[in-house]
Amino acid sequence: MASNGTSDTDKPSPSRPRRRAPRACQFCRLRKLKCDNVIPHCTNCGIYGKECIYVELPKKARPSSAKIARLEEENQRLRAQWQLGLHELQSQDANEESQARSAPPSVNHSVVGANNSSISAVEIREDSVGANQQQQETYSAPPSRQLVPPSDSVSYYGRTSALFEDGGPHQDSRSTNISNAGQVSERTQLILMGEATRQRQMETINYSAGRLDFDGVDPELGMHLLSLHWNRQHHSSLITYRPAFMRDMACDGPYFSKLLLNAIYFGASKFSTRLEIRSNRRAAGQQFRQRVRELLGGALDRSKITTIQALLIMTSSLFALGDERSAAWLYAGTAFRMIIDLGLHIDDLSLSASRKLSEEDYEIRRRVFWGAFVVDKIQSLYQGRPMSLQEADTRVPMIFQDNFEELEIWHPQAFPGTQNYPGSPTYSVSTFTELCKLSVIMNDILNKVYAEKTTKRAPERLAEDLKSLHADLERWETALPHHLRFENIGKSGIVPPPHVLSLQAMHKVLLILLHRPFVSEGHLHSTSPSIPTNSFVICAMAATKIVQLLRIYDRTFSIQQAPYLMSYATYVSATIHVRIASQRGPGSDAHASLATCLSVFARNEETNWAVQRARIVILNLMERMNVLVSEATDPDESSQGPSDATQTGHGGSFQPPHEQHDAKLLERWHAENTGVGQYNQIAGDLDMEAIIQSFIHEQQYTMSKIDANVPHSGHQPFPSSAPTQSSASTAIMQPSFEIPYSGIPAWNEMDSANLTVQDMLFGFNGEALDGLW
Ligand SMILES: [Zn+2]
Ligand SMILES: [Zn+2]
Repeated sequence: MASNGTSDTDKPSPSRPRRRAPRACQFCRLRKLKCDNVIPHCTNCGIYGKECIYVELPKKARPSSAKIARLEEENQRLRAQWQLGLHELQSQDANEESQARSAPPSVNHSVVGANNSSISAVEIREDSVGANQQQQETYSAPPSRQLVPPSDSVSYYGRTSALFEDGGPHQDSRSTNISNAGQVSERTQLILMGEATRQRQMETINYSAGRLDFDGVDPELGMHLLSLHWNRQHHSSLITYRPAFMRDMACDGPYFSKLLLNAIYFGASKFSTRLEIRSNRRAAGQQFRQRVRELLGGALDRSKITTIQALLIMTSSLFALGDERSAAWLYAGTAFRMIIDLGLHIDDLSLSASRKLSEEDYEIRRRVFWGAFVVDKIQSLYQGRPMSLQEADTRVPMIFQDNFEELEIWHPQAFPGTQNYPGSPTYSVSTFTELCKLSVIMNDILNKVYAEKTTKRAPERLAEDLKSLHADLERWETALPHHLRFENIGKSGIVPPPHVLSLQAMHKVLLILLHRPFVSEGHLHSTSPSIPTNSFVICAMAATKIVQLLRIYDRTFSIQQAPYLMSYATYVSATIHVRIASQRGPGSDAHASLATCLSVFARNEETNWAVQRARIVILNLMERMNVLVSEATDPDESSQGPSDATQTGHGGSFQPPHEQHDAKLLERWHAENTGVGQYNQIAGDLDMEAIIQSFIHEQQYTMSKIDANVPHSGHQPFPSSAPTQSSASTAIMQPSFEIPYSGIPAWNEMDSANLTVQDMLFGFNGEALDGLW
């Protein structure tokens, strides 16, 4: 947590002395900031808005090792007594010895700070100001885990660790902090909102005063990239916390690091329209990527929140590039390790008792944890690999108490052609909360439907899982707050910000992710013949809604700079529309939907290079299934704002919207979303057998490839460039049900020339196409 500035990861700047001034003010001492000793107010107290107090501390001699040994002995003895039932032991004696045990001798700030900090602790359960570590373990730490604050950070050790003090007096006190951890506190909300408001104002003041550390980047450019970051990236996943980052950027505090700053620069670069940042988007911000590499070396020795944040931002940015999937995976993995090292996966309020963590610390820890949780699921989905943060191992309430950005009016930045967008409340906190809930369901879907061992499960069990997971997704939808609901999008005449559309798209993606395997396995693995049909209809409805979301996204914000998730949703939706279109005449809704999907690929690939693969898969699938759709896009339109290209082939049911917020348009869009009759329309005349077969052919091809373990001669898609492990990795890309082979046409009976790429949802990482460009 709080650390000695950023000196170990960042090169010390000459203007900042490495050593703290001998008599830092009380607040700087507590927060471990470098005090400039200005009288009457030091600069840091000005930035934080604190009263600046200088006190003379009695000089404490460093205890000798003999003294430490003596205290340890005494500690053992007292513990023994304690276990014998001396529960009334008061803090006075224990205080001294516990400090010697758990903290380096030079650190005395927890006592000093506790009495004076105005960043007070959350929901203190006991009268525990100045409470010592041992008391916390006694009354609050559950038996399975232990958080040990060493000097100035927090580390996590579970029951099997040698550092976990087994048999300690904390055994039967499990419940206390669990109930407290889940509470929303109005007081905390006010404190955090107040600080957020103040720091928003301070940003300008600190900027004008030249206090912000831009790591050598021109301040004006630096601010441009930061504001892009706050405007875009932040809203779907609240990994970075603006008030603390911007404040600590001015005083080299613990929530700022140059590593994080450069990760933000890099992530924001591809959205910038400035030519000094990018000549093409693909190489955007390479200088920042290089700087991240430099700084990362030194940051790997110790876990820090800012490092976790930097790694998570890099993960999303790198993945979207398409050829940096390994880097994305490794960065994310390191972030998850650090999260567990710091105990972010266990929200243990006992630390508030010693004032180790403030309300703000908890807010940030929760945001970082849940942000990482979402990244974990999404990376796992895209890359087809096991998850790292299993929900069962974690306990962090989904409570975010700084609501400053929830109702702040959001205006798009770097979305071309959005001049007429009237602005909307940001809804960032509620969107993020719902995204976290969705990720928990996704965790379940990946475990129950896509894990390797799913092979062993009986069809009846799988059918039960399908039912309960579908119910989870339905419950999620029903419980959504009014402003996030699908049917309310655009209803009031205002389209909510893009991250709300992404959230809805994610929900539809999960519906397809859950149901598609039950179609693709067909009657072979279902206990009831109605399951494949029902599942396909649900997939079709979800796919249709995704296309509706894409169209309104494009019309309002332009799909050109949409995040990767929207492209993934496009892909998932297209895999369903192809199947429907293959059974309908040209000009059907399914054809129109496919045209929209293809147009999205073409226009989004500049921002998300990885999208190229999606397009190729769908084009191959279309060719194989004899579906013809003109892939008409007008390249000129992309620079002029929301394009009408997505309406190509829609049979005229959409008029090109010249006025983006045309009320009639929204009305019609809304009417289309009522969903009445959709079910019958979709299910009516479909040949389910053919649809099921269309999935099985794909799998048969995959399986034959794996079985043979050598590429089929003459049909090997990528003779020289595909890595050998690519065939093995496709094994986990399909849901791992066992597939019987009898009665299924052999893969080579089909038009094998186009069977180059698999039509999978889980594990869509583009690896197999690496050699193509
Ligand atoms: Zn100070
Ligand atoms: Zn001060």
